[in-house]
Parts: sequence; C-alpha cells; structure tokens
Amino acid sequence: MLMSVSRPSPIAPTVDFDAKGVQHGHLRLPYSRDDSAWGSVMIPICVIANEEGPTALLTGANHGDEYEGPAALLELAQTLDPSQVSGRVIIVPALNYPAFRAGTRTSPIDRGNLNRSFPGRPDGTVTEKIADYVTRHLIPLADIVLDFHSGGKTLDFLPYAAAHELPDKDQEARCFEAVAAFSAPFSMKMLEIDAVGMLDTTVEEMGKTFVTTELGGAGTATARSIEIARKGSLNLLRHAGILKGEPDVRPTRWLDMRSDDCFTFAQDDGLIAFVRDLGDPVRSGETVAHVYPLGRTGIAPVEYRAVMDGVLAARHVPGLIKVGDCLSVIATITENI
Ligand SMILES: [Zn+2]
Repeated sequence: MLMSVSRPSPIAPTVDFDAKGVQHGHLRLPYSRDDSAWGSVMIPICVIANEEGPTALLTGANHGDEYEGPAALLELAQTLDPSQVSGRVIIVPALNYPAFRAGTRTSPIDRGNLNRSFPGRPDGTVTEKIADYVTRHLIPLADIVLDFHSGGKTLDFLPYAAAHELPDKDQEARCFEAVAAFSAPFSMKMLEIDAVGMLDTTVEEMGKTFVTTELGGAGTATARSIEIARKGSLNLLRHAGILKGEPDVRPTRWLDMRSDDCFTFAQDDGLIAFVRDLGDPVRSGETVAHVYPLGRTGIAPVEYRAVMDGVLAARHVPGLIKVGDCLSVIATITENI
C-alpha cells in the first residue's frame, strides 16, 4: 500500500484546475486492450472557475446505473455562467465512466464497484486507478463534495440527501447543514451497510464537508428526481458561497437509519409483492411484502414484516427477488437532526 501511494497516478487531466473560465475536457486513463493498443478511458470533466472562493466537487454515476446525478450535472456543466461563480466548481458527471457507458453498477472492464474501491491504487485495476486519482488529486482541491447516488437497477429510494454521523461533531454539523441546504423532500442521517472503501468515508476522513444522496432508482430517473438533483446542486453551491444568494430551501422530512435492523434481506427466492409503497408509514409487526415461490400454485407466500416503526424508505426492484437481496429499508422519522 505504501509503495503504491508514492507512485504517480497514470491519469492525465486535459483541463487546467488553476485556470479561470469554463473548461470541458477529460481525465485520460491509459487502458491498453484488444481493440485499442494504446487506448484510453476518457472520463468527461468540467471545471468552471472565477475569482477567489471555495471549491465544490460534484460527482455522479459513481455507480454506473444511477442517473439523477449525470442528468443534473450534464445540465449544470452546460448552463453554469462563470461570471456568477466565486470560486471553482469541478463537475464529473460519470465517475465510473466505463460502468456508466455499460449501464451497469460496476465496471465492465474489471467488475470494480468504484464506491467500494477507495482510496484506490495507482497500480491497480482501472476502477482502482479512478478511485486513487479522485482521492489524491480531486478531493484535496475541494472544500465541499456532493456525490450523487440513487438505487440503480435493483433498489428504489425515497428522494433524500444524506450525511453520516461522524466522530468530529463540528464536521458532522457542517455536513448536515449542507444536507439541509440541498433541500431534498427527505433528509437522512445515513447508516452504511459496509462503509469500507467508500468515497464517502475517504472524503469525510479528509475533514471535508460531504453530502450524498439517494434520489430514486429502478434503473432510470424521473422528471421529479432530476429536478430535485438540479435544485440541490444549485442550493449547495449557494450554501458554499460559490453562487450568490440563499439556498431555495423547501420543507424536508428528517429521517434516521437507527440500526442495522432498518435493513431487511430476502431469505427466499421469488416474486416480491409489496403491500406498502415508498413513503408509506409502517408499524413494527406489519407486513411489508409477500414473496411468492415461482414454481407452482397452492403455496402460501412468505410474509416479510417490519421490525420497527417508520416509513418505507427503500424497496427492492424489479419484481423478482433472490436470497440475500436487500428487500427494504425502514427509516425512522425524526423531528430534528
Ligand atoms: Zn450508488
């Protein structure tokens, strides 16, 4: 690990991070392969800078099948007027670009899940090289980082922005203030199933202000979820002082993932028939979904019941489920963070 950290990144940016104005370019990652001997992965990047001020790093498609981030960030890169900017905005609409092009969560090159590959390695797989570049070259430039997620092809979420509980309470407060400024319909104190290797953890350990999201999913984006992402990005830039004006703050409901009990995992293969929809209140003991066996009639479905009071904050998609899949997340409604 120590040896790989001292090695330079193979990624070369075609943009100058110190230049003013608007630059549309690429992070060029050499990738030699059968159809392109000296070829590269070209990850689109936009840098918009003007005057003095903080730097925001905005990233989407850390998982390749999550579309609100790329949709909002491609628009922002095209429409953000540099004369309105005080500081710098670095936009990477599709961080795991090979996965984004393939429409898959992980990279088709190495099966790498970028958000389990941090801090990365300069001498590792393509996915690990992207993570390493972000860790050593992009995050250090930033004061505030927004990384867009949604449920991809196998989960659907209530639209929320989120931050994590952190050991540094001042930093935690900064992160939740930024979540409030993003102003999604829901705001979450988020618990991770497995935080090792995540961009989130890497950014937080560097002391930066960090906001993530889950804005829908099911392998697509809706007009509503894209609008939440678009407004949230602008609100965050206002909150950071990079754009003038106050964030356009809308009512939000604060949610909390209190413990591992909030996750339910399937113990059966079958057809999943939810009896609650996203946002519906659920009480402990109530049925959330039935899972029917697929092979014949006359067999009762397995009932999956809530183990806590709350609202259905995430659900499995599409209609068939396998043993081990995340079936649902139940979040607790809180008055305040
Ligand atoms: Zn994701």
